[in-house]
Amino acid sequence: MRASPTASVRDARRLLRPLAKEIVALTRALVRTDSVSVPPDGHETAAQKVLRDALKRYRMDVELYDTGFLRRSRHRYVRRDRRYAGRHNLVARLPGRGRGRSLLLSGHMDTVPVGREPWRSSPWSGAVRNGRLHGRGSWDMKGGLAAQFAVGMALRNAGTRLGGDLLCESVVDEEFAGGGGTLAGRLRGDNADACAIAEGTNYEVVRATRGGHFFDLVCRAGDPMGYFSKEEVVSPAVPVGRLLGWIDGWTVRRRAVERGEIYRDFPDPVPVQVLALEANRFDPDVPWSVPLVSRVRVYFQFLPHEDVPAVVREVEASLRAFGAQDPFFRRYPIEVRRIVDPPLLGHELAADHPWTRCLHGAATGILGAKAKISASEWPCDAFLAQREFGIPTLLFGPRGAGSHNPNEYVEVVSVLRTAEVYLAAALEWCG
Ligand SMILES: [Zn+2]
Repeated sequence: MRASPTASVRDARRLLRPLAKEIVALTRALVRTDSVSVPPDGHETAAQKVLRDALKRYRMDVELYDTGFLRRSRHRYVRRDRRYAGRHNLVARLPGRGRGRSLLLSGHMDTVPVGREPWRSSPWSGAVRNGRLHGRGSWDMKGGLAAQFAVGMALRNAGTRLGGDLLCESVVDEEFAGGGGTLAGRLRGDNADACAIAEGTNYEVVRATRGGHFFDLVCRAGDPMGYFSKEEVVSPAVPVGRLLGWIDGWTVRRRAVERGEIYRDFPDPVPVQVLALEANRFDPDVPWSVPLVSRVRVYFQFLPHEDVPAVVREVEASLRAFGAQDPFFRRYPIEVRRIVDPPLLGHELAADHPWTRCLHGAATGILGAKAKISASEWPCDAFLAQREFGIPTLLFGPRGAGSHNPNEYVEVVSVLRTAEVYLAAALEWCG
């Protein structure tokens, strides 16, 4: 007989209470361990070992494995320009009694770099002030990872065995539109009847994510020998203004996309963004001269139902048409450099899917009305599990701020609540 939601919620709270201090300490230890990934490399393994050591005394079946085998896979989402050898995923398995649905709790250990803007305190401090745990990766997503692994720790601590198998997984290479770690886990067969990823969702059960395409537009116009010569100096800087106009045109055009129900109320459901813009730099050691090259980094997003390759073809055809009617760009053509190819796809799981109802039920039981069902404003690796491997996938995670920016933090209490939600959902789902 399956426990009622109230019983699962009660059990989850009871089983996690003795671990509260340890979960915070684990989050802190993970934040204090640099696991920055900058393509083509990533340095996740030291943090994976910190996690492995924390799991040791729970006598879990834990495996740390090298993702270097990706290189031999023919899967189209293996990013050929990245190095995987020496980068380790970690998976902890809690075998069930053999009667019940299995569950995969997954998160990424890599973080983005600290960036160039100053932080108020060290990005590696893991310091707790006013209920917030600070540092790079605290919210994206070491807090969520600690909460997911706490589910396994609590079950082992209490000697409770679920009906179905539980897998807790910590992967590499999610940032910078990676997905290699997730892909490695799925390809080697660490799969389940449902999956949840612990991105920082501010307690929202996210059942849809957007796709993303990133590309650089490069225009090389200047002659390095031409400055101070009798020839007029050609600059690609001002024509880039017209190129930005073309991008802006797409911002407007994309607003007319059929939204679907889950993205209906978003003010800008499929934004087109400029991530970087360059024509010379402001650094003091750069000579004052007319730039030779200009570059724009563009970021298109897609709704889950869209035919992404078709939209990309349309965008590139429109760029060729724009370039053809501009005298400057006719002479100095714009080069397109796709920096992630193929693009990330979105995903969507139905509101009435049993896994959506289960996780939302658990979230409501723990958090009350704060637990909403929503859609994300960003892409992630969820589509790989769901669309490439058929695993119904949701996102759920703690409250925080500053992801990919300075002064990132996660709310400590929300890490504990997230663990409770995940444990209540596991008790309910796996039986
Ligand atoms: Zn993330």
